[in-house]
Amino acid sequence: MGSAASLIERLSNIVGSERVRTDRDNLEEVCWDALSVGRIHPLKRPETASPLCVVLPVSSAEVRQIILLANEEKLPIVPYGGGSGLMGGAITLRPGIVLDTRRMDRVLEVDKEACFVRAQAGLVLEVLERRLSQEGLMLGHDPWTLPVATVGGAISTNSLGYRGAKYGSMGDEVLGLEVVLPNGEILTTRAVPKSSTGIALNYLFIGGEGCFGVITEATLRVFPRPERRSLNAVRFSSFEAGFLAIQNIYGLGLKPALMDFGDDAAKVKSGAILYLAFEGAKEVVEAEARLALDLCEKEGGKKLAQEEAEEFWRDRHVIARRFKQNRLQRRVGRSDGIRWEWVHVALPASRVLDFRKAAMAILAARGIALQESGLWTRPELFSMRLAADEGGGERAQLVLEDTVEELLRLVQRMGGSMEYCHGVGVKLAPLMAEEHGYGLEVMRQIKTTLDPNNIMNPGKMAL
Ligand SMILES: Cc1cc2nc3c(=O)[nH]c(=O)nc-3n(C[C@H](O)[C@H](O)[C@H](O)COP(=O)(O)OP(=O)(O)OC[C@H]3O[C@@H](n4cnc5c(N)ncnc54)[C@H](O)[C@@H]3O)c2cc1C
Repeated sequence: MGSAASLIERLSNIVGSERVRTDRDNLEEVCWDALSVGRIHPLKRPETASPLCVVLPVSSAEVRQIILLANEEKLPIVPYGGGSGLMGGAITLRPGIVLDTRRMDRVLEVDKEACFVRAQAGLVLEVLERRLSQEGLMLGHDPWTLPVATVGGAISTNSLGYRGAKYGSMGDEVLGLEVVLPNGEILTTRAVPKSSTGIALNYLFIGGEGCFGVITEATLRVFPRPERRSLNAVRFSSFEAGFLAIQNIYGLGLKPALMDFGDDAAKVKSGAILYLAFEGAKEVVEAEARLALDLCEKEGGKKLAQEEAEEFWRDRHVIARRFKQNRLQRRVGRSDGIRWEWVHVALPASRVLDFRKAAMAILAARGIALQESGLWTRPELFSMRLAADEGGGERAQLVLEDTVEELLRLVQRMGGSMEYCHGVGVKLAPLMAEEHGYGLEVMRQIKTTLDPNNIMNPGKMAL
């Protein structure tokens, strides 16, 4: 391996010295993402390192040259988008190059007739959304982090957003990708909604967390802006009653654009609230909303004031704007004496209530508070927000993280998946063998074949 100075010089020859950064502030920003240190199991914390430099390419050709150089020098490359990932996927574990994609931020093509957009991977979703709205179009993907997350980061985590029930996850929106592979080859998949010509290579990169290549461009399915949106908030006397109403709504084949259900103690003293929206043609939306609200009423649901639903929709990106202004705070975590954890699991809908009950018993036995349990976009996607008093220091953290692992293992035993939208990163890597069985070995073999020098985001996803 050459010296750090010669590396910087060679990278500067590729992108120009202005787009190679080595100053402390820059390295500090991009060596970490939105995973707070306190959410890593204290006995399973990986070694971390400071990057050697950050490089900001503007084109696939530049990415290719950077990757060829890294391969020659056997240096790790960590692709970095908005840095809002919650699992440590963009953390630097070994000194290497952070490939910050945020200068690859161009919209390359909008086809209104065919309903697709082609964009560079570092484009922030909200910027893309604004551009599409000028054409009467919209993204189907609308996560909390719309103002921060990038096209490439959202694909690489197969992220899910508020409109996921109707339009699917970010991965579902991908028609085609351009990816620079670890050997410098540029792979372009055909941007069509369906083909039957071998396995779908897009899925090497959807949820791939930068381990198999750098996504440089994506062609995404987009949608006409809805003629009408019906927003509703309904309160139920219990989680179970709301769950049943939701099951009946989906059982009837209705497809809400938004389904967000939870028993957040800060919002409801008892019971749970369902935020439900339908989008599309006026007559269809009105009919769907009427049918869904009837099903809610049958389970004792009481419609809340319209303003409650409007406020929920209006404020859905507020937390992400706060994160954007104070990202370093996220790494340290909160300082209010409480340790927080989140669990986002996928289970067959018929097992969700059983899992919730079993989880509540585990939490009670461990002295951990369940602050909220809920469903997002589908009855199968179940979340919990947990809190432990920090008074016990490191011990409290150990108990909390052990408990999270116990819950995730229980989900796996019940036929579910331990995470439905945030990816694996370093946080969930220790549970990947249980999650995938021999599937993990298959992923490792693919990784070794494509990336024999293990330069692409090494140490993530247990690869
Ligand atoms: C307050 C808050 C709210 C959130 N809400 C949601 C939510 O509603 N839904 C949801 O799904 N997630 C949510 N997240 C998590 C996060 O926003 C998503 O995971 C998002 O998709 C990450 O995008 P990013 O551009 O920030 O990626 P990053 O964090 O920069 O990267 C994520 C992973 O992708 C890799 N990567 C990035 N760009 C590329 C590329 N071009 N090619 C290959 N690999 C790449 C990185 O190496 C890393 O492994 C939230 C996070 C926060 C902090």
